Amino acid sequence: MAKETTANKKLNGTVIVTYRCNARCSMCNRYKAPSKPEEEISLETIRKLPQMYFTNVTGGEPFIRTDLKEIVRELYKKSDRIVISTNGFFTDRIVDLAKEFPQVGIRISIEGLEQTNNEIRGLENGFQRGYQTLKTLREMGMKDVGFGMTVQDKNAPDLVPLYELSNEMGMEFATASLHNSFYFVEAKNIIHDRQMVAKNFEELINRLLRSHSPKKWFRAYFNHGLINYIYGQKRLLPCDMSFDTFFIDPYGDVMPCNGTKDKEVMGNLNTQTWEELWNSPEAEEVRKKVRCCDRDCWMIGSVSPAMHKYIMKPALWVLKHKFKALFTKHPYSMYELKICRDLRDGKVTTEELDACSTCDLHCAANNGLSEASQAQLVGRTGEEIVAADLAGQK
Ligand code: SF4
Ligand code: SF4
Repeated sequence: MAKETTANKKLNGTVIVTYRCNARCSMCNRYKAPSKPEEEISLETIRKLPQMYFTNVTGGEPFIRTDLKEIVRELYKKSDRIVISTNGFFTDRIVDLAKEFPQVGIRISIEGLEQTNNEIRGLENGFQRGYQTLKTLREMGMKDVGFGMTVQDKNAPDLVPLYELSNEMGMEFATASLHNSFYFVEAKNIIHDRQMVAKNFEELINRLLRSHSPKKWFRAYFNHGLINYIYGQKRLLPCDMSFDTFFIDPYGDVMPCNGTKDKEVMGNLNTQTWEELWNSPEAEEVRKKVRCCDRDCWMIGSVSPAMHKYIMKPALWVLKHKFKALFTKHPYSMYELKICRDLRDGKVTTEELDACSTCDLHCAANNGLSEASQAQLVGRTGEEIVAADLAGQK
């Protein structure tokens, strides 16, 4: 009999529909390493995916694919909920998709207030386009829309103002911090002024805890975990990626997550059935590696399933801080984390914390491209390839 698999259990999946991207983010080099459109995941392969309780559609920039609507239509046949992560640039395409799927979730990455966002993202008028797209979606009556922000030294002071802006607009506000992996084609991301960044998170956490929304209280816990992560500490919750959660890349390769240094492949859905690959010896090998993984990422893709699975820990944390909130406006302090106290008290140095991070200044970042996608980079940059491709779409 098959092990506990897709036959009796819905999974959490992320579909990376393309590695092409039109942005130039300072913390991600994916735009330099695009996939070849002909190789990108087909509807045929998407039809082979298992039943999912949640699907994130991402890239690169997913709206570069002109068949994204068909992909989403297929995915709705097997997924209870779909959220698309986008840089928000292709307003018309996003609005057009939202008209057909008003229930879809849209998360637009905005990296700070106008100037900071445009500097980090490298998209002309990026803030205005993202903001306008969000406003239009809201005016259309879409409920599941929001901002996503990757917090770093440069934009940390914009964290709370951006949260307040999302509140004014009645939107979700998702956070992340810098990670290094093959997916971001980056190995040198690091937070320099941890205390400053953590202080901004602390203020956000207090505001989330003071809100009347249980969802925001749990988001406060997630942000508490982000402080712990940027100090290079062990994850607050176990990582069960590849057990009930998966990523699939544009080439049909199924992976545990997007946080590994090199691409870890459990199998390929272009050539295998889901049951074959999910129960394969290769998948078991990857699961063994996940069990010993010391990268300690804290990204929503791996933390959200863990928060549901190990609910007691975040729930107790929330209860404790909501109780404190009855008596003080600042129920949370970053110094609840021992490592924050240790840095403040000089018991650990910044250099020692840097060594705990996944930043490796001497390492060449891997990009996970296929041979054919890699070959197109000879004599042309990724930016040129994607620009030519987009010009051909008009
Ligand atoms: S972070 Fe996203 S939008 Fe920015 S370059 Fe990477 S894939 Fe593109
Ligand atoms: S900690 Fe989890 S999400 Fe991060 S690289 Fe390891 S297995 Fe992947």
